[in-house]
Amino acid sequence: MKIAITREHAPGERRVAATPETVKKFSALGATVAVESGAGTAAAFADSDYAAAGAMLGDRAATLAGADIVLGVQGPDPASLAGVAPGAWVVAGLNPFGERARVDAYAAAGLEALAMEFMPRITRAQSMDILSSQSNLAGYKAVLDAAAEYGRAFPMMMTAAGTVSAARVFVMGVGVAGLQAIATARRLGAQVSATDVRSATKEQIQSLGAKPIFVENVAGIEGEGAGGYAGEMSPEYQAAQAALVSAHIAKQDIVITTALIPGRPAPRLVSDAQLASMRPGSVIVDLAVEQGGNVEGAVAGEVVERHGVKIVGHRNVAGRLPADASALFSRNLYNFLSTFWDKDAGRPVLDAEIGDAIRLTKDGTVVNARLLGA
Ligand code: NAD
Repeated sequence: MKIAITREHAPGERRVAATPETVKKFSALGATVAVESGAGTAAAFADSDYAAAGAMLGDRAATLAGADIVLGVQGPDPASLAGVAPGAWVVAGLNPFGERARVDAYAAAGLEALAMEFMPRITRAQSMDILSSQSNLAGYKAVLDAAAEYGRAFPMMMTAAGTVSAARVFVMGVGVAGLQAIATARRLGAQVSATDVRSATKEQIQSLGAKPIFVENVAGIEGEGAGGYAGEMSPEYQAAQAALVSAHIAKQDIVITTALIPGRPAPRLVSDAQLASMRPGSVIVDLAVEQGGNVEGAVAGEVVERHGVKIVGHRNVAGRLPADASALFSRNLYNFLSTFWDKDAGRPVLDAEIGDAIRLTKDGTVVNARLLGA
């Protein structure tokens, strides 16, 4: 059983899918691990550390030759997998809805593509959940990015020269990223409020010492859809939410938006008019910018200014903390493969609940129900 880890090919991607720690653990399971030279450099993992952990270092072709499992943070370029035999697994964050052509190419090559972001949100799979591990870091980093762009301080400071008032931070979307953003902003001394469509988050917001801002008494307030994710809200709810947000946002200094709906464009939460109501120097960080954006005018990969308000649209925010993001992502991959490791077979053997959820392609075709629209 050979596990291969190559350098990520996506521009700006600094994470890596295995660390020396997980290489050692895979070796202990009996696997041979090959790592492309330089794969971990951008995340501060040196080739020598991989070698010391038991990995074979080599160029891309040597790394992939004879691989049974190819690990990636993002999906590897199908063209680069020409030397990988049909039936091999490609296990990564495959962005199945956004990169459908790539999924089709894996199918055409006879590869079995397993999308880690389709991992079911069930208790036993929590340690395998890349969305949670990466969103948590993104929520943290979003607040630091906001603080860096903000020309004022976060905490209240009483000094001999006068008092600096605390920044007011509003977090929209209180999933994993939003909860970490609330906690981080609180640690920096901000006054924090937050909103979500799922009423279950109200208590979580309060428990972190922040103020919940919620639409009340509108049909469809319980926004929870399948698997604990949000669903799309009714027009009536959206209008009530827009009115509530308009009143609140004008008094905020920092807004962090994280709202996502799986398989759909991100919901639009902040309009240009709402942006214009904020005072100049305010900052908005749109963590959903790559899924279409929660904020009107946000541009993926850029920091833009509108009405004197900065809109921060960094891509791949977790990847801006490459060492920690890689360490957690790699452990998610290890936890997944080791949980299903069959000692007799010398390889992982998936069960139906998780296998069917994450398997995108097999035997030359796309097999995933979510991709087939079933
Ligand atoms: P997500 O990234 O899909 O979305 C972020 C947040 O945006 C969610 O809280 C969502 O409700 C919210 N949102 C969507 N539309 C909105 C709108 N119009 N206005 C305001 N907010 C909106 O969410 P996530 O971080 O992946 O978490 C989703 C849920 O899954 C949470 O309940 C989380 O605790 C749960 N979860 C469970 C497990 C597990 O059991 N294994 C693991 C991770 C997360």
